[in-house]
Amino acid sequence: MHQAALLGQALQDSRKFGWQYEEQVKHNWETMVEAIQNYIGSLNWGYRVALREKSVTYLNAFGEFIGPHKIKATNRKGQETFHSAQTFVIATGERPRYLGIPGDREYCITSDDLFSLPYCPGKTLVIGASYVALECAGFLAGLGMDVTVMVRSILLRGFDQEMAERAGAYMETHGVKFVRKFVPVEASIFTCLIEFLIHVE
Ligand SMILES: Cc1cc2nc3c(=O)[nH]c(=O)nc-3n(C[C@H](O)[C@H](O)[C@H](O)COP(=O)(O)OP(=O)(O)OC[C@H]3O[C@@H](n4cnc5c(N)ncnc54)[C@H](O)[C@@H]3O)c2cc1C
Repeated sequence: MHQAALLGQALQDSRKFGWQYEEQVKHNWETMVEAIQNYIGSLNWGYRVALREKSVTYLNAFGEFIGPHKIKATNRKGQETFHSAQTFVIATGERPRYLGIPGDREYCITSDDLFSLPYCPGKTLVIGASYVALECAGFLAGLGMDVTVMVRSILLRGFDQEMAERAGAYMETHGVKFVRKFVPVEASIFTCLIEFLIHVE
């Protein structure tokens, strides 16, 4: 998605470097998502082959502890297998959380959902200002979307704030809008942006 946005930017710049073309350039979200999914598929295939070469058994299943040394694994078809071991390594990562406000699950999607979204999201409000939020806002704007980022407090908490503000200022010059010191209190198909915001200070 970054690359798609960068290519769009390069296309815009290219005329100044002498490239001439007549047709209007448009971006097709579906084509991009298909390419991404194919690429992820090829990576997954490569990892599975590498694991097999090292004699590592790979299970694509949901794991749950059912005892101190026993795990139940349920695959997509609902088939269960059981595995016991002296030691387990838990490396389950994190998933984005919903906001916990009325309408969030009906009308909001998470950053994980965005990466496989089968349709173009169009005008987008990005809630949060972590690096994932700013990455998403950046590539959506680069693909031509009208993008606003809602910031509860500061950009890129934990990062150097001078650099964070520079990143924010750069994004603003590239069309990303920022709504600062606001949090959403409700998401509804009938409410417009301004109605479901509350100022936090
Ligand atoms: C949008 C985005 C951009 C990022 N960009 C960068 C970057 O540029 N540079 C960088 O260093 N890091 C980046 N990160 C962070 C990086 O991706 C994570 O730090 C890293 O993936 C964490 O690895 P992990 O193995 O701990 O967890 P994950 O990669 O999240 O893997 C956990 C796995 O466990 C599985 N799992 C969870 N629960 C169960 C269960 N009950 N049973 C079976 N399986 C389960 C999950 O499905 C998943 O496959 C980014 C993250 C995001 C979301």
